Amino acid sequence: MPDHVLVTGGAGYIGAHACKALAAAGYVPVTFDNLSTGWEAAVRYGPLVKGDLMDRASIDVALAEWKPVAVMHFAALSLVGESMRDPGLYWRVNVGGALNLIEAAIAAGVRDFVFSSTCATYGDQDGVVLDEDTPQRPINAYGASKLAIEQMLGNFRASHGLRTVIFRYFNVAGADPDGEVGEHHDPETHLIPLMLDAVTGKRGALTVFGSDYPTEDGTCVRDYVHVTDLAAAHVLGLRWLQDGRDPAVFCLGTGQGYSVREVLDHARVVTNRAVPVVEGARRAGDAAKLVCGSERAVSDLGWAPARGLGDMIRDAWHWSQAPRY
Ligand code: UDP
Repeated sequence: MPDHVLVTGGAGYIGAHACKALAAAGYVPVTFDNLSTGWEAAVRYGPLVKGDLMDRASIDVALAEWKPVAVMHFAALSLVGESMRDPGLYWRVNVGGALNLIEAAIAAGVRDFVFSSTCATYGDQDGVVLDEDTPQRPINAYGASKLAIEQMLGNFRASHGLRTVIFRYFNVAGADPDGEVGEHHDPETHLIPLMLDAVTGKRGALTVFGSDYPTEDGTCVRDYVHVTDLAAAHVLGLRWLQDGRDPAVFCLGTGQGYSVREVLDHARVVTNRAVPVVEGARRAGDAAKLVCGSERAVSDLGWAPARGLGDMIRDAWHWSQAPRY
């Protein structure tokens, strides 16, 4: 019998790509999702349990039915701007949901736990390449809620022998190169899909959020990582735990920062069209520069991110022309 893995948020953007990677590696991904921001049609590689992390009983039922060997926890609210407008929502849903899930996993005897954290836990640290040892000082409620969950996992490691791999993602972009799954947020707030919609006229011009940051061209710098590379890291993280290795934290990015203007330049090349742009004000909660030092994931986990920004924009562009959902 293949190992089952409970994937919370498996109907979402990153979760769906992780399910594809898990299935390709011989696991059965069991998606647990309330479909609040995910899509039923994205669940293609294993069963779907419609359930809510705020409802502990629904997690218990799923764990009892599917008997997973591990949990991968993707389900979360993840919008920086929204988290600044409604921080209570982020503490309630992200932290409360994770607590229910962790306690349910422990009660069901599941010890291996892979968690999606974020570079937003670092805050704004001028000029620093962010790695696993960089102090975490979040500047928005989204990052604060993810840091709280990391700390909670630490407490349960110490008290209950929970075994964790924590991934801190940088800016995830692109789509499955086979076009089976891709990015569809409603509302969409992310740079690359908004930019591509501006190119086709599906949406209006892209607003550049701030051009007075202390960066080379004044726009924010981010480290973009292809969602398929990111998904591959999760399979490695699961194997890491199944091999009995110690709990670990890994940053997932490429080590290469791109400003908003540089991303726009790449989009022009990939689409061969101009991107309509207007200059706007800064967005609350945005750090000037977030660039990853991902050496540990490469050296220890054996992760090999193979795709660059051009690949991400190309795969996102193909998906946007033929989305399955
Ligand atoms: N951004 C922008 N215009 C938009 C959306 C995003 O200028 O309409 C910028 C944003 O300020 C950030 C970068 O693009 O510097 C990436 O933002 P995104 O929302 O994609 O990811 P985040 O960094 O918030 O995780």
